[in-house]
Amino acid sequence: MKSAASRGFALGIDIGGTFTKLVALSEDHLVLAEGRLPTEAAKGPASLVERAAEACRDLCAASGLEASSARAVGVGVAGLVDATRGILVACPNLPGWENTAVASAFSAAFGCPAVVENDANAFALGEAVLGAGRGCDPVALVTLGTGVGGGVVAGGRILHGRHGYAGEFGHMALTLDQGPRCACGARGCVEAYLRSSHVVALALELAASSTEPPTPALARALAAGEATARTVGEAARAGDPVGLAVFRQLGQYLGIAIANVISAFNPQVVIAGGGVALAGEVLLTVARSTALARVMEPLAADVAILPAALADRGGVLGAGLLALAHES
Ligand SMILES: [Zn+2]
Repeated sequence: MKSAASRGFALGIDIGGTFTKLVALSEDHLVLAEGRLPTEAAKGPASLVERAAEACRDLCAASGLEASSARAVGVGVAGLVDATRGILVACPNLPGWENTAVASAFSAAFGCPAVVENDANAFALGEAVLGAGRGCDPVALVTLGTGVGGGVVAGGRILHGRHGYAGEFGHMALTLDQGPRCACGARGCVEAYLRSSHVVALALELAASSTEPPTPALARALAAGEATARTVGEAARAGDPVGLAVFRQLGQYLGIAIANVISAFNPQVVIAGGGVALAGEVLLTVARSTALARVMEPLAADVAILPAALADRGGVLGAGLLALAHES
């Protein structure tokens, strides 16, 4: 048997707003090493590239690997990524990082080829190959977090569109000209309804109008202005009537978004990831029934709607897969 060190491997990096995750992935898709570091986005991309390279060297060394012998490094980052040129073009959640030449910066720091991809596209690839989409084709992903992202993997490859901007499911519109303002500037986008801040706004609205009051813990958090999407999700999981009402409504929005994705791509599976798991079963159950009721019957009969299987590791594993595919 070959040792880990003698096998080919690649590095995957998933840059999030708070943490950056790292993985060393063997060519047969085994995780050889895994870790994370704080992103500290305000220090800028050059600082992160340097710290990530050092963290990868340490991580690899601890597992008997030489980081410098990695075949390639794959990078997933939130925002519009020009995958052909390796440039992060727009990134509302990483202020000041616009127009960063991510691929060349990582390639120089790591001494190997680098490929960069939108983080949700990388997540979709991770789920398609190693997660809930294994054996399915095409695979679509909708992921909930600070924003709402998505991606489609068809024939084992990420669907890029012209530049790599395809799959921005968060900016599909749910209304004509109304609804909450989205970070992109438009109104009524899927993301404007499902983003964390709107979850809290909806909880406040439903708590005021509900005939059943929220449980004391949620009522206190809402009154103190301390509620987050996580707080509301925990309340829903514990059976809080307001928390459940919030996620039933959000499930309808998510369901419409998933119906649109099904009609556009005829996927074999739609995977819902990210904060979907926060609220427990209620969100996905409502989303599934809403989506299946809205698409034409032959499409509905053909599609599974599943939770992500890789949790918050989908993006970094997908980035590692991208790097492995880059040289093969
Ligand atoms: Zn938008």
